[in-house]
Order: sequence, then C-alpha cells, then structure tokens
Amino acid sequence: PLTVEVEDLVVRHGPGRAPALDGVSLTLTPGRRVALVGPSGAGKSTLLSALMRLVEPEAGTIRVNGVEIGDLSADDARRLMTGLTQDPYVFQASLRDNLRLAGPEAGDEELGEAVRRARLERWVERTGWDAVLGEDGRTVSGGQLQRLALARALLHNPPVLLLDEPAEALDEATADALMADLLDATHGHTMLLVTHRLRGLERVDEIVVLENGSVAQRGTHEELVSSP
Ligand code: ADP
Ligand code: ADP
Repeated sequence: PLTVEVEDLVVRHGPGRAPALDGVSLTLTPGRRVALVGPSGAGKSTLLSALMRLVEPEAGTIRVNGVEIGDLSADDARRLMTGLTQDPYVFQASLRDNLRLAGPEAGDEELGEAVRRARLERWVERTGWDAVLGEDGRTVSGGQLQRLALARALLHNPPVLLLDEPAEALDEATADALMADLLDATHGHTMLLVTHRLRGLERVDEIVVLENGSVAQRGTHEELVSSP
C-alpha cells in the first residue's frame, strides 16, 4: 500500500511561461480516491505528468511512502502509477478474451494465468459487467472500451491508478453510466481521477478543484456543491 504526497508542486512548461502548476498539494493514502477537477488549462494533465515523471518540477516534492519520486528508478516509478489508456487496443475477439489476452506489463512477469483468471472473475463479480464481456471487442461502444481499459488496468492491481478524463469523449448519459461503473469497480483502490465535471463524484473521498494551476477549492462532493 502506497501513500503519495504532493507538496507545493510548481511546474513550468518552459522558461518565461506562466507556471502550469503553482504550489499544488494533495495526498493519496491507501484506498483513497481523489478527483482532480477543473476547466481546460487548469493544470490537471500537468499534475498527472509530474506523477508519471514526464515533467520535472521546478519546486516542491512528490513523495511515495516518504521517498522522493526522483530517487526511484524510472521502472519503479512507472510500476507504482498506472495510467488508463485512452485508446485501448482491441483484438478481434470478445472483451473477455481481450482481457485474458492482455499482455503482462513491466513488473508483472510473475503473474500466472491462474492468478489473472481469478482476478478477472473477482472483477466481473464486483462490476456485474459479465453480459458486456461476451460482446465483440471490435463493435462495442466507446464507453465499453473505457471499461475494457479500466479492467485491464485493474487486473494488474496497480498500487495507484491514475485516470485522465476517462469519460471525455462520451455523451452525457454514457459518461454518467461509465463514471458509476468506474466508481463501483475501483472501490478500495488508490486512485487519482482527472475529470472536468463534478457530476457523479459523490463517492470519491476528496475533490480537488484546480484553477490556473492552483487549488481553488477542496472537499467532498457534498461540501463543494453546497458551498456558494
Ligand atoms: P486536456 O484534455 O488536458 O485539456 P490539452 O488539450 O490541454 O489536454 O492538451 C493535450 C496535450 O497537449 C497534453 O499532452 C498537453 O500536455 C499538451 N499541451 C497542452 N497545451 C500545450 C501547449 N501550450 N504547448 C504544448 N503542448 C501543450
Ligand atoms: P488541463 O489538463 O487542466 O487541461 P494542462 O495541464 O494540460 O491543463 O495545461 C496547463 C497549462 O499548461 C495550460 O496553460 C497549457 O497550455 C500548458 N501546457 C500543458 N502542457 C504543455 C506542454 N507540453 N508544453 C507547453 N505548455 C503546456
């Protein structure tokens, strides 16, 4: 179980540019789900990039169980934080077979077929998506593809799951349904969920609202919707 602490993070995408993140702090403790919300350009993707070590902070720290992320090897850092693929690759087979065939990821080599199957079954039980899993991977909707991507990520039981706008390309009703399923499936996982909408976030533990690279508000869904 991992705790990720982001403290006073400052990131600039080039000299002379305004900081994309200007002193942002947030903490992910084991099993806690945090949503990062804000308009386009607020700095959400930049924070995910910093967590995945794709950008170098100018100031501030990111610590994983007390260790600076910069002191971890790139492989170790990558293993800790699993990002959800926006554009999942689909084999000409059912979603279930697509999941079975999903290749091992870095650090997953020891994961045997039996373990993968058991995890898949637990996951199907938990989500109730078994009807969908029989459908052909080539013909399913965008929402189902996002579920496939999520399922693949969860099969590897990542210590921290980073999701970047999983519902972005979907219409409102499909997005609502995906969000509800996503929150069912990720219960108990440590997760940072980036989204531009507050809607459907009743079940996350904390919502952090970013504006112009700074935290404008933070709290539960109830606290945020009832505040002026
Ligand atoms: P988002 O969906 O997070 O709003 P954007 O459309 O802002 O994404 O950005 C998409 C990609 O382009 C991201 O990888 C982001 O880092 C990059 N990007 C955004 N703004 C710029 C910019 N001004 N110059 C170069 N790359 C950018
Ligand atoms: P969000 O994900 O909330 O839309 P981003 O993190 O993509 O916000 O962007 C925050 C700010 O940083 C924006 O002003 C954007 O244009 C800028 N930016 C993002 N990525 C890059 C990049 N790779 N190069 C230059 N500027 C960037």
